[in-house]
Amino acid sequence: MVLFDFIDSYLFPSVCHVCGRQLVAGEDRVCLHCLDALPRTDFLNRSDNPLLQRYSRQPNIVSATALLHYGNDTRLLVHDLKYHNFPQLGNTLGTLMADEGLQHGIFSVDLLVPVPLHWLRRLSRGYNQSLKLCEGISRRTGTEISTENLVRTRNNRSQTALSHTDRQKNKQGLFRLKHPEMWNGKHIMIIDDVFTTGATIEACIHAISQQTSDTKISIYTLAYAGV
Ligand SMILES: [Zn+2]
Repeated sequence: MVLFDFIDSYLFPSVCHVCGRQLVAGEDRVCLHCLDALPRTDFLNRSDNPLLQRYSRQPNIVSATALLHYGNDTRLLVHDLKYHNFPQLGNTLGTLMADEGLQHGIFSVDLLVPVPLHWLRRLSRGYNQSLKLCEGISRRTGTEISTENLVRTRNNRSQTALSHTDRQKNKQGLFRLKHPEMWNGKHIMIIDDVFTTGATIEACIHAISQQTSDTKISIYTLAYAGV
């Protein structure tokens, strides 16, 4: 085993996903310098952040925040996580979301809920990147993850290209809860990789709000590419 580990580390040295430098003890897939340099949104410090402002008229939304701007290095990491088969990177980035979220006390929630992928997409990718972020968060916070209740009913095309009206129509019935009563009175934190138009998360909120009662919702995404 030791020999195998030695050969493995010799043939496949652990290098930083961003700068390519050899990692040292205590670093996990991204070096500490690159983690520190990722562009923070500072939304965690702002109660008037643009994400929360979008939901100001929805009293069941408790908090909404994103850790990073979707700039060059963030985009590179998200692409590695989603498209280049590096699921473990989700744990690294989820841990970062946890550590900085914990400093702002945002995890007083009952459940972490990754935005579900349609089963066909999960099959082709092999994993749900938002679940990998949840696992990284949960490792620090101990919060339970729910993957069975909220399900995606359609494998719809990207919502980015749709008009506002079409997006509104598209969000109806995109997700549903299999056991809505289980979430009555609970505080759910929806976790996703990138907030772009917000259409996907709004479809989740729509399903949860329609099917449950007294359910509070928080939103936390790794990155914000808001439009
Ligand atoms: Zn680096």
